[in-house]
Amino acid sequence: MQTYRQRFSPRTGGTAGFDTLIVGAGFAGCVMAERLASQAGQRVLVVEKRSHIGGNAWDHYNADGLLVHPYGPHIFHTNSAEVFDYLSQFTRWRPYEHRVRASVDGQLLPIPINLDTVNRLYGLRLSSAEVETFFQQQAEAVDAVRTSEDVVVSRVGRDLYNKFFRGYTRKQWGLDPSELDAGVAARVPVRSSRDDRYFTDTYQAMPLHGYARLFENLLAHPGIQVMLNTDYRDIVHCVPWRHMVYTGPIDAFFDHCFGALPYRSLRFEHLTRPLPAGREHLQPCGTINHPNEQPYTRVTEFKHLTGQLHPATALVYEYPQAQGDPYYPVPRPENTALFRRYEAEGALLKDVTFIGRLASYKYYNMDQVVAQALSQFRRLVLAPATTP
Ligand SMILES: Cc1cc2nc3c(=O)[nH]c(=O)nc-3n(C[C@H](O)[C@H](O)[C@H](O)COP(=O)(O)OP(=O)(O)OC[C@H]3O[C@@H](n4cnc5c(N)ncnc54)[C@H](O)[C@@H]3O)c2cc1C
Repeated sequence: MQTYRQRFSPRTGGTAGFDTLIVGAGFAGCVMAERLASQAGQRVLVVEKRSHIGGNAWDHYNADGLLVHPYGPHIFHTNSAEVFDYLSQFTRWRPYEHRVRASVDGQLLPIPINLDTVNRLYGLRLSSAEVETFFQQQAEAVDAVRTSEDVVVSRVGRDLYNKFFRGYTRKQWGLDPSELDAGVAARVPVRSSRDDRYFTDTYQAMPLHGYARLFENLLAHPGIQVMLNTDYRDIVHCVPWRHMVYTGPIDAFFDHCFGALPYRSLRFEHLTRPLPAGREHLQPCGTINHPNEQPYTRVTEFKHLTGQLHPATALVYEYPQAQGDPYYPVPRPENTALFRRYEAEGALLKDVTFIGRLASYKYYNMDQVVAQALSQFRRLVLAPATTP
């Protein structure tokens, strides 16, 4: 693989060059840029092929003046004090606890499944202790928990699995839960309490002035330059740099030489709707899941997330699809094995650091990407790669 080492060897070039070339202006790229510029005194160039910073977490005001997330709803939550304190230098926060209801059998029921979900669905009056017994009675014996189906049916049984999980998963991934790693459903907890928060993290909040402002603040250091609308391949040979931090898809970096890593994509349908007099929202909570009847998986009403007051409201409908921007790595063993081959190839390139969701081929939340960037920064600065 000499060709990649040749292609991505550093271009040193006197005082006008950059210490680090960062590919991608999402959380991974922006946090790394901020750290390298402010803590290591580096000159950093961030190259982004889209027309804006922020990656998939970017937000903006739509034509009707409503703050929306063009790449789908992004809710910040973390258990990491380090990540929260770090980001708090660049934004103030609006406390927000996300809640989701699933449209099942004509009712809007709490998800994750909790005590109220079961009582309302089946017309019962169980206590917390009794609902645990109920789950045990419903649970199916599974020899070894290997797939997402195994995870759910062995916990809550087949009826709840069919009503809440099976259809949603088939739409979301284009695969039956029996074909997906157990790790996918492990993200969906079941509760015997009445807690109807979607997340239980210590820190749950939204950037007070939106994500775009947070990203602008991250990149405000004078040592950082940003180049938008530019694929890094168009400038990698002419701009001098010493180290590269790459946050795009790892298979694209290597020209898909071992084959394309599969991703699931989404089509977003954004709508602005008028509100009835005296109402601020159309939905009772931020997101309604539609596991069964509809072609879309979920509908999110942004005003719940943003707290914006406005005479209208903005909704986004999510339609999963195979083609399109790479959003979700498909968690199957053969895909992980393919990723490992790219990862091993990347490890040979001492002048390139791979971070972020696409370069790691992992379903990372924003806080996990920030944590990864912070720890990789420490690794780079404490044990810098050899440069000529
Ligand atoms: C629908 C959806 C909803 C989500 N909701 C949440 C949520 O509620 N909470 C949460 O914590 N996380 C959520 N996430 C995850 C979150 O989006 C990611 O954790 C985060 O955006 C990853 O940041 P990143 O920098 O790794 O990648 P990205 O944000 O994808 O940034 C990578 C950037 O690299 C650029 N790039 C790629 N190739 C090139 C190239 N050749 N040249 C130049 N630039 C390039 C891309 O254009 C992109 O802007 C959600 C993700 C999706 C898809």
